[in-house]
Amino acid sequence: ETIRPRSVLSEMKPYSPGKPIWEVQRELGIEKVIKLASNENPLGPSPLAVSAIQSYVSDIHRYPDADTVDLRAAIAKKYDFTADQVLVTNGADELITLISETFLEPGDEIVVPSPTFSEYEFGANLMGARVVEVPLRENYSYEIQDILAAVNEKTKLLYICSPNNPTGTYMKKQDLHQLMDQLPSQVLVIFDGAYSHFVTTDDYCDGLELVRSGYPIIVTQTFSKIYGLAGIRVGYGIAAPAILQHIRQVKEPFNVNALAQVGAAAAILDDAHVEATRSMNAAGREQLYEGLELLGIGFTRSMSNFVLIELGPDAKSIYDQLMRKGIIVRYGAGWNLPLHVRISIGTAEEQNAFLTALREVL
Ligand code: PMP
Repeated sequence: ETIRPRSVLSEMKPYSPGKPIWEVQRELGIEKVIKLASNENPLGPSPLAVSAIQSYVSDIHRYPDADTVDLRAAIAKKYDFTADQVLVTNGADELITLISETFLEPGDEIVVPSPTFSEYEFGANLMGARVVEVPLRENYSYEIQDILAAVNEKTKLLYICSPNNPTGTYMKKQDLHQLMDQLPSQVLVIFDGAYSHFVTTDDYCDGLELVRSGYPIIVTQTFSKIYGLAGIRVGYGIAAPAILQHIRQVKEPFNVNALAQVGAAAAILDDAHVEATRSMNAAGREQLYEGLELLGIGFTRSMSNFVLIELGPDAKSIYDQLMRKGIIVRYGAGWNLPLHVRISIGTAEEQNAFLTALREVL
């Protein structure tokens, strides 16, 4: 009774991830389970990463490189930055928490779109900062005037997730540039590009050119999605060295383990795997749209590797029934979208199984 956690913790909701395959197998006693819930790569990890990790395993008695020198160099080279413009973390999740710990104090505000990825709110809550939500407009589009209206002198961070999780919508290139030009100077923009490699339109900006032009922005990235390395937890930020230096003061020395570092450094050279994933994903989106249209189900067109679909008042029950058939998707209640589920793009076969199961339970 006398041992009490910080008072902010009582208001914080725990993160509920997509159910793992093994858990559903165990609960239902079935072997074949398809997971389309966590936006993982259905083609698996980059094979280059797998062999790099295998060759490194006998060296794991050594501490990892605290400065992630080789991996930062590889990332910097790939995107034409210098290594001091790159900071590597234990998944993008850790980076979001570190950014919160570095820049937020009680009384500060962050501005986030709504709905969006929940970790931004988590980081703000943890630090006792206030979260100001800006509802997305029709078809979940970004409206920069709404964002500017939510920003005030207390605003420290502005999160732009593009493509946005869970809607799959993105901020248009011109809008992003205009927004950057109109923000007050104390606002640090966090551009979450976790899904940027899945985008197939020219009207998109992945934020990197804004770092190059010297805007106050951190682009956050992950190896969990297109590189297929969610299990080894590697993310990174790209920003001005002075901004990253503040975050380095907060991070633990050995935050990225040795296998993760070598795996990610190999994966970033694997353009073939990225290209195969991107084109399979784009075809998968079309296949899913077609199937959903045939079933008369509404959805939001996505530039990402998932699609938000509308199922009406039975959404939770449909989600449960799909689960009993061994198909794991993500139910929307956590985003305050109780009539929706989000489905990750899978292989053509996985998606056919999903569409067949959905037809059966509708
Ligand atoms: N940002 C967004 C928008 C995400 O959807 C995710 C993954 N759920 C992350 C960041 C975190 O990625 P990581 O696996 O690198 O922690």
